[in-house]
Order: sequence, then structure tokens, then C-alpha cells
Amino acid sequence: MHVFTTNNDLQAHLEIERKKGKSVGFVPTMGALHAGHGSLIQAAKSQKDYVVCSIFVNPTQFNNALDLEKYPRTLSADIELLETMGCDALFCPSQTEMYPQGNQTDLIEFGALETVMEGAHRPGHFAGVATIVKKLLEVVQPHNLYMGQKDGQQCAIVAALLQKTGLDSTIKLVVCPTIRQANGLAMSSRNTRLNTQEAQDALAIYKSLVFAQKHYQNYTVSQMTEILELHFGCYASLKLEYVCFADAQSLQPVQAWADAAQVSLFVACFVGATRLIDNVRIF
Ligand code: AMP
Repeated sequence: MHVFTTNNDLQAHLEIERKKGKSVGFVPTMGALHAGHGSLIQAAKSQKDYVVCSIFVNPTQFNNALDLEKYPRTLSADIELLETMGCDALFCPSQTEMYPQGNQTDLIEFGALETVMEGAHRPGHFAGVATIVKKLLEVVQPHNLYMGQKDGQQCAIVAALLQKTGLDSTIKLVVCPTIRQANGLAMSSRNTRLNTQEAQDALAIYKSLVFAQKHYQNYTVSQMTEILELHFGCYASLKLEYVCFADAQSLQPVQAWADAAQVSLFVACFVGATRLIDNVRIF
């Protein structure tokens, strides 16, 4: 696997690959790779000739300095995993390479999409995400971009970004399913920060999602929301930020099941000091 740390080197290399007629699939990550990331690499490999993964812990998308400091960094293990998976190139730039003028973010308006859920609870988060994704796309210029449904709102923001910048004429966003542990917990780099008890308590997230999927028809949206909130309240280590039933397309909260053709449930919850998110389609 080729490893690049500068925009220029990666760009020059990819230009050669593209001239050979190779199509490029791109998987942006923040590292501490797990099977969820692996599934994106696999999808990219099955659909495109040349697969690029990036690892960059993007400071501008962290609204919490401690979260940024504690974010797991496991570059040598990540390289090993990517090599076993047959990834063609890794881009792991420095902070100054990506932010030569300091940590500035682009002002891109996402309207109602960024005022709910993660947008409401993590001020500036999506501005940081959009800024880094745009920078990376300008360097990699992939045909396909692979992202995970686990970060459903992020996928919607990136889809809007592609549309607003016109990049959607050359780049296709492929959203891949959430990969879970056998016990249901969604894979996340932050899971490594959970202690044994927290890892056990974190299962309440998936249990809530499955409960809502099974029983939503017996309750109103507000009743079901209250049941889930009570469920989270039973665990000392859990501090729920939100449960939100939302239109799966617009991501706007619904007040009644009939408000949307497709509804998803989104959850954000602190497990000890670690903030986890998850979502499933309800119908
Ligand atoms: P991250 O490194 O957490 O920024 O994630 C990089 C990409 O991997 C994003 O598109 C995530 O949505 C995706 N991803 C993270 N966890 C999972 C998972 N459990 N299943 C599928 N995709 C995931």
C-alpha cells in the first residue's frame, strides 16, 4: 500500500492511476479502524479499481477539546488492517497540510439539516465535517465516496455538500450499512474507551432501537420517546442526549408516525465520558 502525507504527492500519484483508466473509490476516516471501516473499504474494492483511505483526526469537527485529545490513534495497526484488506493507498496528512491557515471552517449553509440532532448538540461539528470532506475530495477527486449509515446525519450533510458544490456531477456518495458487534453495539472507534461495565450498559442503545422498531405501532411518537428516555434513565453510567424519531429523508423530527413515509430513530448518549450515536430505520 502506498502511504502519502502531502496533497501534492497523493494528487500526482492518483493522476497517474486515473490516466491508466482506473476508477477511484475513497473512504475518509479518523483512524482507529474497525470492521465498520473495513466494510467501507470492502465496498469500495468491489466497485472501484483503486481504493484510497484517509486517516485524519479532524480538529475542527470536535466541539469538545477532551474528546479530541482522547480520540484513539492507532496508526500502525490501521496500516496493517488496510494492507490485509488490499487498500491501494493511504493518505494521512498532518494538521498543517490540511489547515495551512489555521483551523478555519468554510461557511456552508445546510439549513434545517444542521439545526437538529448532532447539529443542535455539537455546535460547529458539521461545519468542520463539511470543510474537511470538501478539502479531501478536492485532493482525491474520487468517482465514489463511501460513508457509513451509522453517522446518518453526516451522510445527509455530505450529500447536501456534494449538491451545493456541484461535485455530485462527478462523485457518487455510497452509504453503507452500520456494522455491529455480535451483541448489537454499533462499531465505533470510541468503543475502545469504554470500561467493562460501560460496554455492557452501552447495549441499552441498541436494545432501545430494536424495541422501538418492534413496538412503535402500539404507541404515539411522544409515548415511545418517553419510554426510551425512561429506559436510559435506568442505567447509572448513561446520560442520554437525545432520542429523535425523524423523517429518514429530511431528518426533521416527526410528531406522528404518519408525518413521514419513512421514519428513523436517532440516539446520542454519553456512556460514562464517551459519547456514542446510533440509528435505525423504524419503517
Ligand atoms: P470515523 O472514522 O468514525 O470518522 O468514520 C469513518 C467512516 O466510517 C464514516 O463514514 C462512518 O460513518 C463509517 N463508520 C463508522 N462506524 C461504522 C460502522 N459501525 N458501520 C459502518 N460504517 C461505519
